[in-house]
Amino acid sequence: MSDEQIDVLAIAAHPDDVELCAGGTICSLTASGKSVAIVDLTRGEMGTRGTVAIREREAQRAAEIMAVRHRVNLGIPDGDIQNTKANQLLLIEAIRRFRPHIALISSPTCRHPDHADASALSISSFFYSGLEKIETTRGGMRQRPWRPAHVLHYMQSVPFIPTLVVDVSHVWEQRMQALLAYESQFHSTAYKEKAEESETYISNPDFLAWVEARARTYGYPTGARFGEPFLYHNGPIGTADLSDMLKTSRQFR
Ligand SMILES: [Zn+2]
Repeated sequence: MSDEQIDVLAIAAHPDDVELCAGGTICSLTASGKSVAIVDLTRGEMGTRGTVAIREREAQRAAEIMAVRHRVNLGIPDGDIQNTKANQLLLIEAIRRFRPHIALISSPTCRHPDHADASALSISSFFYSGLEKIETTRGGMRQRPWRPAHVLHYMQSVPFIPTLVVDVSHVWEQRMQALLAYESQFHSTAYKEKAEESETYISNPDFLAWVEARARTYGYPTGARFGEPFLYHNGPIGTADLSDMLKTSRQFR
């Protein structure tokens, strides 16, 4: 048993993707004592605003707010996330290091090509991570194969019909604090932008209102004030005990 084993691993193309799309879910998990790690594939160096150093500081601050146990960056080039054997091996090493039960990954389709590319790389890496004959080492020791039991895509800019919505109402303020730790990326009066930095899709103040509106949109039908939607990869979900559903008090809508 690895002493770095965690319950949930979130993988993202860029620092801030996880906070934007699954931040409430992560805050909810850590609040209930579950362990979470984040793997950012790139440093976001192609971003219009901020710098690699600023984004790294922001990412660490956000991880602290969400009480994430580990956050690592694989340093794959931003804007060029290819599903190559070299990139798979980088990610497989992280998967085998953290040995998660559940993985949260990018959306299969998005306006930003890196997000779909990150999804494809993640899916391939999970599969190959389970093959014994693919060798990886950490600290000079050969790693054992591992696949997560459940893989969920978080929703990015292109909506899908979710198979799961996580109620994040009780951690909403915390999840917004984690998002706003990225002062260079989202609207913030604290950030002094450089003259040459343009407004982006996500730095417009209306974007934060849209984040809240989307959480309300997906939360409300499930009885939650705020919800985060997910797409279960390669369903269906099995259960040995249907009475688990009786633990929720919500009425059919
Ligand atoms: Zn992104």
